[in-house]
Amino acid sequence: MRAVDLIARKRDGQELSASEIEFLVDGFTRGDIPDYQVSAWLMAVYLRGMTSAETAELTLAMARSGQVLDLSDVKASLAVSGGVPPLIADKHSTGGVGDKTTLTVLPIVASCGVPVGKMSGRGLGHTGGTLDKLESIPGFCIDIDQTQFKRQLADIGLVLAGQTHDLAPADGRLYALRDVTATVASMPLIASSIMSKKIAAGADAIVLDVKVGRGAFMQTEADAVALARTMVDIGDSVGRKVSALIADMNQPLGTTVGNALEVMEAVAALMPGRKFTQGALEIEAGEDFCAHCEAVAAEMLQLTGHAASPDEAIAKARQVIHDGRALAKFRSWIAAQGGDTSFLDGQARLPLASLHVTIPAPRDGYVAGLDALAVGTSAMHLGAGRARKSDSIDLAVGVVLHKKVGDRAKESEPLFSVHANDASRADAAQAALLSAYAWSGAPVARPPHVHRIIR
Ligand code: URA
Repeated sequence: MRAVDLIARKRDGQELSASEIEFLVDGFTRGDIPDYQVSAWLMAVYLRGMTSAETAELTLAMARSGQVLDLSDVKASLAVSGGVPPLIADKHSTGGVGDKTTLTVLPIVASCGVPVGKMSGRGLGHTGGTLDKLESIPGFCIDIDQTQFKRQLADIGLVLAGQTHDLAPADGRLYALRDVTATVASMPLIASSIMSKKIAAGADAIVLDVKVGRGAFMQTEADAVALARTMVDIGDSVGRKVSALIADMNQPLGTTVGNALEVMEAVAALMPGRKFTQGALEIEAGEDFCAHCEAVAAEMLQLTGHAASPDEAIAKARQVIHDGRALAKFRSWIAAQGGDTSFLDGQARLPLASLHVTIPAPRDGYVAGLDALAVGTSAMHLGAGRARKSDSIDLAVGVVLHKKVGDRAKESEPLFSVHANDASRADAAQAALLSAYAWSGAPVARPPHVHRIIR
């Protein structure tokens, strides 16, 4: 087999076989096939696309390029008196502004009896990724080896680790090439990239949270649906249960954007009163965020056979919040990974910015729009996110949104608060955030947070 022939076949729109795709991925990972040939093949894929079979084979080849976590021993140990081993669940979000869903959903689902084992990448973003958010909890450790990953999954039914270098290494190398050859925005390449890591991480049931809108990777509903369908199909063809929510990301999710602030909101959403306080700061979990967490948790409960209908699943999720089991699970998860849980008992342990400025609404009216991209960019300029992988981030800074789309505001009522460690950055953020709001004199309907579910 020669790489040049496979490039030519893809260039001419032909379908490659499983062994041909494996030849390319293996050869590239071992260093036998040079970057320039793989770049040409990636461009051919970008222009010609891939069939479902090719996409599934590419996913498997990338997943197998490193270690594939085998969780069967953990499942056997969790099986109730020799019964059917439980399904291990995972979730993945394609990323958005204010998306702290993982922090709330994992303990909800785990406290309903679903074991959840998740690996997260750090990634780039307007605000940090899930790992950065969790690292605003003093002591929390994401560097977990496979033995601890499995032990914690068996002991408390919940573990979240940073992605190891050996997880689908071919994807990391291919992504670096895609980044510099204008081939990132290809549906089969994105779908196989995401799914290869999910499959290598070992879960049986995966819920994908595919965001669509201004602050998302996918800007149109059609693209988001196509990506979701491709990933669900990949799951089907490799024997994993996968479903996908298409979720709104035109405005930020919830009331907070910024790492420690998002941890506070995630914890608030696990409390029946939906409020978290640290000193004088009170963070209320957004209604849209709570509803979104319920929807994702409900999908995970149904996919793993813990609920027979959406209503039953939502009722289970609400019950564990109401009776404190979800918060207790969050506490044991954080403690198991070395985190200081005293912030849950009123101790001021999460990082806070030195400047808190609250900006009033400039007029009476209804919020008609709140540009997620503009809010995310403002948070990034405050220092909450990184533009390059090497950038450091400030875990304390960010934005609290007091009014969201559909809310009514009276002139001079609090509109948003900026948490900053630098006065000039705070001024720039205020101006940008004021222009992120659009207004209407007439009532505005709240946007749906989940557009549809693809199973
Ligand atoms: N996220 C990934 O993991 N891979 C892509 O290709 C795009 C987004």
